[in-house]
Amino acid sequence: QDDQFKKVISHAKEYGYVFQSSEIYDGLSAVYDYGQNGVELKKNIRDYWWKSMVQMHDNIVGLDAAIFMHPTTWKASGHVDAFSDPLIDNKDSKKRYRADVLVEDYCLKIETKIEKEVKKAQKRFGDAFNKEEFLSTNPRVLGYQEKIDTILSRLGKSLEKEDLADVKLLIEELGIGCPLSGSKNWTDVKQFNLMFGTKLGASAESAMDLYLRPETAQGIFVNFLNVQKTGRMKIPFGIAQTGKAFRNEIVARQFIFRMREFEQMEMQFFIKPGTQGEWYKHWKEARMKWHLSLGMGEDNYRFHDHEKLAHYADAAADIEFKFPFGFKELEGIHSRTDFDLKAHEEHSGKKLQYFDHEDNASYTPYVLETSIGLDRMFLAVFSNSLVEEELENNTTRTVLKLPAVLAPVKAAVFPLVKKDGLPEVAKQIIDDLKYDFNVFYDEKDAVGKRYRRQDANGTPFCITVDHDTLEDKMVTIRHRDTMEQKRVLITDLAAIIDKEVNF
Ligand code: ATP
Repeated sequence: QDDQFKKVISHAKEYGYVFQSSEIYDGLSAVYDYGQNGVELKKNIRDYWWKSMVQMHDNIVGLDAAIFMHPTTWKASGHVDAFSDPLIDNKDSKKRYRADVLVEDYCLKIETKIEKEVKKAQKRFGDAFNKEEFLSTNPRVLGYQEKIDTILSRLGKSLEKEDLADVKLLIEELGIGCPLSGSKNWTDVKQFNLMFGTKLGASAESAMDLYLRPETAQGIFVNFLNVQKTGRMKIPFGIAQTGKAFRNEIVARQFIFRMREFEQMEMQFFIKPGTQGEWYKHWKEARMKWHLSLGMGEDNYRFHDHEKLAHYADAAADIEFKFPFGFKELEGIHSRTDFDLKAHEEHSGKKLQYFDHEDNASYTPYVLETSIGLDRMFLAVFSNSLVEEELENNTTRTVLKLPAVLAPVKAAVFPLVKKDGLPEVAKQIIDDLKYDFNVFYDEKDAVGKRYRRQDANGTPFCITVDHDTLEDKMVTIRHRDTMEQKRVLITDLAAIIDKEVNF
């Protein structure tokens, strides 16, 4: 698993997808830059989301609100008071941890140990191995299991809102986080606000304390009436937005899974109070369908229904994806009630109500939210696509099997050789295709090598111009995944590519 994840990270760099930010200065932790291919993949994911949410829905419109917002916004939303993570410092190692992550990692490590024991026993006993029996009788496994049970019974399944003093005790008791030194010298668990502060204004006296937005949702809420009135929107309707959000994550790791500057794709759907149950169900299904439409494997997704809910929600679920380090949250679907609109009414003194002509009455709408991290989706797509394939001749090839609709480059065009007029024909093909698709010209090295480069880059089609092309106006088109090659007319290329890459 670790190895696969390392491969993902180095491949992302080698092929111009993701670079560490400010790398020449040794980088900035949990901040990343997208390279020439990464920017295209990211844009394609964003477009795929936008099209399905905005273009395909008559009753959903877009918005692009500013990153800076009036500071009262974050009072109203609850972020000033409640947007924090539990933090704990080890006094000996002087290292800082997120208490919940520390405990979660510990559980994962124990689970891995159990798996190892199972594998060992399986090898030893062969066909006679009975897993159920082994798990319920092996003393070592039982010892591990007891530790997990202790944690679960003390903290519950969700580690989000536990009693902080209890977490500290648990960490000390089990020696969590310090397997080597056994250090039990911890500070108390403190709440640490995740918002980045900054200042607006020139002079120290008049400057206003601002925050970089930690989510895009609030820009939608404060514009609810502007959009509703100017767009003559009728409930139910949605407002969608993509854009940067910032969080001062304590434990920032796992590459672009948890970043300090990231991009969200959020949609707030405004509904009549009382209908939230059906809309919650609707959006859970609709969002899962969207994910499955990319063909990345049904088994890689699952729902996680929240038992403990955030202060604004009456129901919440995550769509989890199987990342190289296990199933983790990719998208959240939250039934936010009228919490946000009511809070903004209260703090601004302005009404944020909707007049329902059918009922001849005004009300504060309820809100259903779908919220997905663009970078996290990028990681899901990228890590799931990277495969090493055994070929028939006992060699391997590295292929990035990106869904064709998301691939940065749709087709690469090669002249078989750098002479005899073949480059000119290839360049003409590029000129014809580039109005509709992102295409790439390559004439360096043998064709086999060029194919491999494009496989690793995720390009769905390679098109080769050879000497026969000059006579029959046909080229060889090779498919990335099947490696199948076909001879087709140059004039048919656009339609063939379009069929697979358009959405
Ligand atoms: P997590 O539990 O992983 O911190 P969250 O529950 O705080 O996430 P939300 O506030 O619901 O996340 O944000 C919605 C989505 O934004 C998440 O599902 C995730 O895809 C993305 N996201 C949140 N925080 C980050 C981050 N630090 N880096 C990248 N993406 C993020």
